[in-house]
Amino acid sequence: MTPNLSQQEALLYIRAKVDQLLTVMGAIPLRPEELDDDTLIALDPIGIIAESFRQVIERLNETNQSLSIAASVFAHSHDSVVITDKNNLIIDVNPAFTLITGYTREEAIGRSPKILGSNRKETKFYARMWQSLQEHDLWHGEIWNRRKNGAIYAAMLAISVVRDNGGQVQHYIGIFSDISQLKMHDAELHRIAHFDVLTGIPNRRLLADRLEQAIVRAMRSGKSMAVCYLDLDGFKPINDQYGHDVGDQLLVTITARLRGVLRTDDTLARLGGDEFVLLLTDLEQIEEIQLVLDRVLAVVSAPLLIDEALVKVSASIGVTIYPSDDSGADSLLRHADQAMYRAKEAGRNCYHFFDAEHDRQVKAHRDHLQRLQEALENDEFILHYQPKVDLVSGDVIGAEALIRWRHPERGLLAPGEFLHFLNGSGLEIAVGEWVIESVLKQIEAWNAVGLGFTVSANISANHLLKADFADRLRLALERHPDVVPGNLELEILETSALSDMKQAVQVVTRCRQFGVHFALDDFGTGYSSLTYFRTLPLETLKIDQSFVRDMLDDPNDLGIVESLVRLANVFNRQVIAEGVETLEIGTKLIQLGCRLAQGYGIARPMPAEQMVDWVSQWQSKTVWLTMNISHAADENITLHVAAQSHRNWIDKLVGQLENPESETALSMDSTHCHFGRWYQSTGTTNYGKLPEFHAIAPLHEQVHNLAAEISDLAKNGHRKVAKKRLPELYEARDSLLRLIDILMENEVTNLK
Ligand code: C2E
Ligand code: MG
Ligand code: MG
Repeated sequence: MTPNLSQQEALLYIRAKVDQLLTVMGAIPLRPEELDDDTLIALDPIGIIAESFRQVIERLNETNQSLSIAASVFAHSHDSVVITDKNNLIIDVNPAFTLITGYTREEAIGRSPKILGSNRKETKFYARMWQSLQEHDLWHGEIWNRRKNGAIYAAMLAISVVRDNGGQVQHYIGIFSDISQLKMHDAELHRIAHFDVLTGIPNRRLLADRLEQAIVRAMRSGKSMAVCYLDLDGFKPINDQYGHDVGDQLLVTITARLRGVLRTDDTLARLGGDEFVLLLTDLEQIEEIQLVLDRVLAVVSAPLLIDEALVKVSASIGVTIYPSDDSGADSLLRHADQAMYRAKEAGRNCYHFFDAEHDRQVKAHRDHLQRLQEALENDEFILHYQPKVDLVSGDVIGAEALIRWRHPERGLLAPGEFLHFLNGSGLEIAVGEWVIESVLKQIEAWNAVGLGFTVSANISANHLLKADFADRLRLALERHPDVVPGNLELEILETSALSDMKQAVQVVTRCRQFGVHFALDDFGTGYSSLTYFRTLPLETLKIDQSFVRDMLDDPNDLGIVESLVRLANVFNRQVIAEGVETLEIGTKLIQLGCRLAQGYGIARPMPAEQMVDWVSQWQSKTVWLTMNISHAADENITLHVAAQSHRNWIDKLVGQLENPESETALSMDSTHCHFGRWYQSTGTTNYGKLPEFHAIAPLHEQVHNLAAEISDLAKNGHRKVAKKRLPELYEARDSLLRLIDILMENEVTNLK
């Protein structure tokens, strides 16, 4: 600050500070809440001056000189300076004091500065002021004072305390300036900043304040509030035709009319141009809003006579309601604006409500897409593979790639949980390309270990219809020269979404030229599957699992499957059934002429690394290898199914020993199992005369007895002992299966 100043220096310093202060006060007519840090720093000289005076007086005291020297300093100041004694009675004032307050020096001396007070501030205010003086020897702030003539004025006041060496109060120095002009200017600025100049109603800025307050009020009261965005229809042509003055008059008239239909607590604001916002608060029911809006539409659309011209406009209004639209002020306005556009689209002169639920869904969808984009970038997708087999030969003919999402929090997610978010987005294509690329890599990897089958990727209709689909597929194939294109199959999904048939045919035709195969997925479900199947040059038709799964129970489904198989034959296409959950279904499919199948009954989708093991285990298990299609008489198939179901039954029993909670209890009754039922019905009819068939019954009984004993042992806690008896069980099983083999061989020999 001003350490070790000479008196002369001190006086000069004070002068400079007073001038600086006045410059600042004149140049910055701002309200205190609008003062930023820089301004505050600039204004602080009041404090600095007070401090300087305090120092000067201390020095004067030190040198025992008269206070009148200080008075001459005061004479130069435009600010009023009051010096009081320790009892706070005025001992001196400067000429500026008289100018501002109207009290002469003589009138003031000996009196308390209270004569200047306006009593506008509460006692609490003065208590705080005195507390600050006691604690910090300084106070400054704004205060309302009264002139001698009674006029109230605003003053910026700084008070400093002067103490003697012992710390006792000697003087108080008050410096203040009249800031009434500043205040008036301030109020004017406030009006300009918050009200629309043309219409005098709140502008966007004030609306924002009111909206914030209204949200808080609505939150407290539990009542609703409507934000209505109003845009005039047909305003611009009037402005263009009659000029801006007429346009302005129209806006003023419309404003007056709008005010006429609103309650006093509602806010009407003009955002600019012909855009207004109505804030309707404290609403109990939606109907209230509708009533107001109907009145608004009516008053806006009533004709106006302006400068002898009869003009007419109307209003399009978008409405959003808090708290059903639980958004912040900005979003509420934006939503109302969006709804206003819908009102315009709907033909104008009407209002439209913003659909918060729909908007939430749109936002959630955007978030999901964003998360899926990250998943792709973070390599969170993975393909599982489900084998496709020839039920007759037992060959594994291929595998279908099925996407999964290794979600870091939610675990492994099936496509049904996330793929639909991609529909129609650019990301759908990116994910589709990732799938193709991954499948090509997988084909290469399996080729290297001797698995040379076809691998299918699912392709969405949107992806297939991309103009550069064929070119990009060719490039992908070029990146994997070891892949025979014929080992890649594309399953086309959602055929009903194939909006451009011509394009689809072209793409499929081109891709087939470089050897890639195509299948139509989910056949029978899409509305126009038949047209697509007839027109698209593809090899394979995949019967949708919804028909296959229940075809043994539902004659309609069976009929559909049968027709689809025939259809494929007529059009000379391969046919494969998905959703083959049991071997019985497999058997029926073969009877219907469909030998290719995929489904849980054969294998569930699995990680790629399990496929090699699965293939070898499948081939050793199957007895279909010994058969071929021409030998596949119904009976022989049922023999096979019977044998397989017997194996399955024992596998289940063993599974239960390993993991007792995993499955529901097996019935030990030998007539309840699938094999037992077959033995008593079809089996007896077809093979009842053969001795090998009769020899099966005691073996089957033996298997069940053994199984019951083993199961009891396990149940009673002797799992180890139970397991030791398994070889006996296997032996009985294999003896039974050998008899079935003999029956099968007989069958084949007979057929030959
Ligand atoms: P999809 O192409 O028809 O695939 C067959 C779906 O049926 C798979 O479901 C498979 O796990 C399931 N499935 C297989 N056998 C059986 C069975 O015996 N019983 C039952 N109940 N279901 C069986 P997933 O993996 O959940 O896939 C569902 C759908 O998601 C697929 O149907 C396909 O439309 C789509 N999808 C899967 N992966 C991709 C992909 O990489 N790209 C695209 N665009 N779509 C895919
Ligand atoms: Mg598929
Ligand atoms: Mg399918």
